Amino acid sequence: MRIHTKKLTIVVIPEADASVRRFAIQRSLLWIVPASILILCSLCVLFFYLYQDNAKLRATLEQQLIMKQEMHNQTVQQKEQTIARLEADITGLTEQANQVLEKMEQLENLEDELRDMTAQGEQAQTNGPAEPLSEPSSVVQIASAAQVPIHTGTGGVSLSLYTLDARQMAEHTSDTFHHLTDDLDTMFVNLQDAKHDMLAYQHLQAMTPSLWPVQSRQITSRFGYRKDPFSGYASFHSGIDIGASTHTKVMSTADGTVLHAGYDRSRGYNIRIQHGNGIETWYMHLSEMVVDKGDQVQKGDWIGQVGSTGRSTGPHLHYEVLVDGERVDPRPYMNTK
Ligand SMILES: [Zn+2]
Repeated sequence: MRIHTKKLTIVVIPEADASVRRFAIQRSLLWIVPASILILCSLCVLFFYLYQDNAKLRATLEQQLIMKQEMHNQTVQQKEQTIARLEADITGLTEQANQVLEKMEQLENLEDELRDMTAQGEQAQTNGPAEPLSEPSSVVQIASAAQVPIHTGTGGVSLSLYTLDARQMAEHTSDTFHHLTDDLDTMFVNLQDAKHDMLAYQHLQAMTPSLWPVQSRQITSRFGYRKDPFSGYASFHSGIDIGASTHTKVMSTADGTVLHAGYDRSRGYNIRIQHGNGIETWYMHLSEMVVDKGDQVQKGDWIGQVGSTGRSTGPHLHYEVLVDGERVDPRPYMNTK
């Protein structure tokens, strides 16, 4: 074999008696064939490893996918539970809101009644007490107003929460609460007004005569024209005479300030009290006085004792009520209590 020839000749000698065989091949084939085999083998090895890696990766990914699926299922389950709880909360809130709304309406009614009551009271005070005033009436009326019947009947078609969109329900509840907040603000202002009115009414009531000035109910001479007990001629009696034994306690019939506490021959020992709002009361023929000019007195306070001083035929109290300086019949200002 010549090394530098382009072809190589391979001589095969099978046996001694057989003929020699020659194969001429290209010299380049001597490198290509083993190289190809080597590359093929390398590729096989490479693909084998790649396949193994790929299988591992696929298994890992599948496992991860399963885990994620489980996590997702858990999350969905938790969310469903949360949604169910929220739906229950919304239902509860809606019911609460409706209950509060009902109570609010009752409160509004109560507020109206309170307002009417004070308005009527003030009107009665302005027009003069046509009927004897009853002090605790306001308290009684508030108590009865508080007993507004509560209607608890329910009914209607019941739709499941899935039918009624939960969000819609939440919006409705939110609207209701906004409405309630506005109502509460308004009611707060109104109740403050009502409280102010009530206080004014109570003040007005305190300074308006409404009591009998003595415990005795024996009227011996009424307000108006009568025959004068001394002269026998017709004369105007400017107050009410109440017969009572000497030293019976005389009380102020309303809150006020003592305008006068003194003696004169006609009225004897007498006390005049200013109550405000143009109203005064006058207590005459007393045997004793326990207040002085300028003293502050409250309704029911002891101011003196029954007597027969001044122009009097016997122990009694002459009681007068003056409105804007004019003497009026005291009887409407005397509660039966
Ligand atoms: Zn009199």
